[in-house]
Amino acid sequence: MMKNGPGNRQHNDPYWKNHRPAAKTQASVAERQHSAPAWTESAVVAKPRSPNYFLASLPATDFGLLRPHLKTKELVGETVLFEAGDSVDCVYFPRTAIVSLVVTLSTGEMIEAAMVGRDGIVNGLAALGRPISLCRAVVQMAGESSVLDLNKLRRIADRSSAIRTALVRHEQFLRSQVQQSAACNATHSVEARLSRWLLRAHELNGTHALLFTQEFLAEMLGVRRTSVSLVANTLQQAGLIKYRRGQIQITNLEGLQEVSCECHETVKASYKRLLGGPSVRP
Ligand SMILES: [Zn+2]
Repeated sequence: MMKNGPGNRQHNDPYWKNHRPAAKTQASVAERQHSAPAWTESAVVAKPRSPNYFLASLPATDFGLLRPHLKTKELVGETVLFEAGDSVDCVYFPRTAIVSLVVTLSTGEMIEAAMVGRDGIVNGLAALGRPISLCRAVVQMAGESSVLDLNKLRRIADRSSAIRTALVRHEQFLRSQVQQSAACNATHSVEARLSRWLLRAHELNGTHALLFTQEFLAEMLGVRRTSVSLVANTLQQAGLIKYRRGQIQITNLEGLQEVSCECHETVKASYKRLLGGPSVRP
């Protein structure tokens, strides 16, 4: 089903025809959200706490209100969970998946504003405000996510000040990510930005091997593919990464941290300040 608006214009652009699988982005929200089976977590997850840090940071009683309603779903890479302006009927708590929140322009260009992984929630503020997605949410890295019906979260949040507080604080964290991204994109080099991006993806994914094409990285950073290719080559020659088709292996984490701009540490510090713990935990 085709939808009207800027989200569709990019599919008419030759660049997008070459870089974005049309079938995935043309699916309706309902089709996208029900493309993979989900199963109830309380029936299959024995651990009392969630691998998602947002959920794990909630007091046990408040998490206990959510837990019976959580379902686990496998998110397929590059699936669009929400377009900007879509009605939100569920929220995602990524566990191993990573979701990019991106801004798209009428010309078809887009740029990542924030990244949500096992440290957060996608479209959580819809439970307290209007249930509309403010940006496109696309699965950057395939993996598992907990999913919760928005109306259930609304009803539970009405009863739980801890959940309402966590949702607002997470939104503050997202805002700090977005403003840092704006400053970073305007002032820092592609080399520093790519390093920052790889460090964040590594921390959310927990492995050194990241499955990304250069086309996808270029879209996230809002630069040309040739720029990503040049910078990836420079990082590889410096011994910081190894790049093979569709996979980036981080081979020198400390070296990558030195090349990265300050924005990576700034965002991590913001998470700790607002949500009371490190964004990456053992
Ligand atoms: Zn930066």
